[in-house]
This record gives sequence, structure tokens and C-alpha cells, in this order.
Amino acid sequence: MAFPTTRARRLRRGETLRRMVRETRLSRDDLVLPLFVVEGRGVREGVRSMPGVDRFSVDRLADEAKHVRDLGIPAVILFGIPAHKDARGSGADDPNGIVQRAVAAVKSAAPELCVVTDVCLCEYTDHGHCGIVEGDEIRNDPSVERIAAAALSHARAGADIVAPSDMMDGRVAAIRRMLDSSGFDEIPILSYAAKYASAYYGPFREAAESAPAFGDRRSYQMDPPNRREALREMRLDLEEGADLLLVKPALPYLDVLADARREFDVPLAAYHVSGEYAMLMAAAERGWIDGPRATLEALVAIKRAGADLILTYAAKDVAARLGA
Ligand SMILES: [Zn+2]
Repeated sequence: MAFPTTRARRLRRGETLRRMVRETRLSRDDLVLPLFVVEGRGVREGVRSMPGVDRFSVDRLADEAKHVRDLGIPAVILFGIPAHKDARGSGADDPNGIVQRAVAAVKSAAPELCVVTDVCLCEYTDHGHCGIVEGDEIRNDPSVERIAAAALSHARAGADIVAPSDMMDGRVAAIRRMLDSSGFDEIPILSYAAKYASAYYGPFREAAESAPAFGDRRSYQMDPPNRREALREMRLDLEEGADLLLVKPALPYLDVLADARREFDVPLAAYHVSGEYAMLMAAAERGWIDGPRATLEALVAIKRAGADLILTYAAKDVAARLGA
């Protein structure tokens, strides 16, 4: 039955009706807040390209963890920035390393907060690559060993979920084996399964001091034009034992997220990355866009496309506005 019998606008009359037929609802439960942890004491310093985002020293994390919990955000993902970097990323699996101490601090301040750790080498290597470098090659298999060791050290420190972000082949299987053989068979793996070599990571690299010293990450991160390949990456990670899959970045890759939603039954996460956040903040600062509204719209779009979890720097603001 077509117009004039059918009128789609009937269900848009007034907020109550719109509320009743709304298909997607963003909730605080969907949010994961990234936190950057640095060495030192009493540090809480802003990241220039990400207004509203701070880097904390371990001793300042307890207050922030409680604040995040009180806002109703269920989880944080931790990124450590060590004082010392070397070729093999020794800090990544140091039992007394920056992220390991941060995990312990957050868990003791707010035990009910789910602590996810980003598992990679790039913050810890002097060359800034996500693996072991020989000549100008990023070597896969030696990198996987180091990455699995880092994941185990995070689990030992008390992490609730480990999230490998390096994009080396076989790292999920290696982490699963390492965790299982060390008594951590209950720790889930959130795999950055479809992580693209994206220009949208710029501000993060300032925050995490992890820009590669030479070359780029295109030999291990995915090529942005590829869509089918993302499903293949995700399928491989599931076969290796991943419990949750992640697509990164989020907004420019909603097609990939929607494909994954149709294809897989596991929970899906999307990383609303630093560049996506920085663009919103910059436009809002200039008065060119309604920042809070545009941010909510972006996150709802990510959820509508299929994400169960959204990693976003806007989590605190959004949680405060969403309320209970
Ligand atoms: Zn990395």
C-alpha cells in the first residue's frame, strides 16, 4: 500500500513515538575507555591532539578508575608508555613494567572494572614497530613469541581480557597456548582481527609515543581497500581461539563491521580511534559542529552497524550524558 495510505512520517511525530520505535540504543554498557599510563609520580597531563584525554602515572590511576566505574563504564583498555625502549621491546613482558603495575593499580582501586590490556610491542620498541625487526623486515614468528610472553605477563598482573593489536599471523593461537599452559585458560582474547593501516591513528601515536622510526605498518596491518580479506582475518583468529573480534578504525569501516555481524556469532568490538575523536573535537572547538550530538551519532552508527562494544575516548562524556 503506497502513499497516501502509507505515511512513514506517522511514526516520527514526537519524541515519545520516536523513542518507542528506535531500533538501536547506545548504553553505558557498550563503552570501553582507553587509558594511557606513563612513568613518574603525580602525572596527569593532557594529550594535545585529543582534548579531554590525559596520560596518568600509575599512582594517579586509582582515582581515575573509581571515577570511570562511578560513571557506569564497565571496562577500560590500558596502554603503557615505558621510560625505556629497546629493539626487542623488553618492557612489554616485564612483570614490573608500566602496564603490569597499572593493571594491579586499577584492579585494586575498582575490582569490578573489567581491565583489558592492549598487547603489542610498538610502545616498547625503540624502532616503534609492532614486532621484531631484522634489517628492514618485521619478522613474524619471533614477534609472535614476544607478543605471547607479553600477554601472559598481563594475565599474571591481573588483566581480565588480553587484546593483541599487532596483526602478526598466528599470534592468537600462540597467546591461547601460552595462557592455557600457564593456568590462565579462563582469560578471553579480544583480537584486533581487522586492523587497517590507517591515517586515523595519528593522535594516538603522539599519546603513546609509538610512531615507527622507519617505514610504516603496511606489511602487517590491512590495506584499507580490502573488505573480503577482513572476514578471512577474522575467521582465522576465531579458529585460533579468539573470543571477541575487533574492527579498527570504526566509522570508515562500518561495512566491515556489518559484514562481520552477519558472518560471526561472537561479540564484536569496534575501535573509534584517536583520529575519529580528534576530528570531532577539532570541528566542535571551532563551532563548526555540535560536538556532543555528532559524537553520539557516530557511536550509535557504530553500534547500528553491529558492534557490541565500542572503544572510544569519548566514553566518559557519553556515559555521563547517557545516565543510567
Ligand atoms: Zn603495535
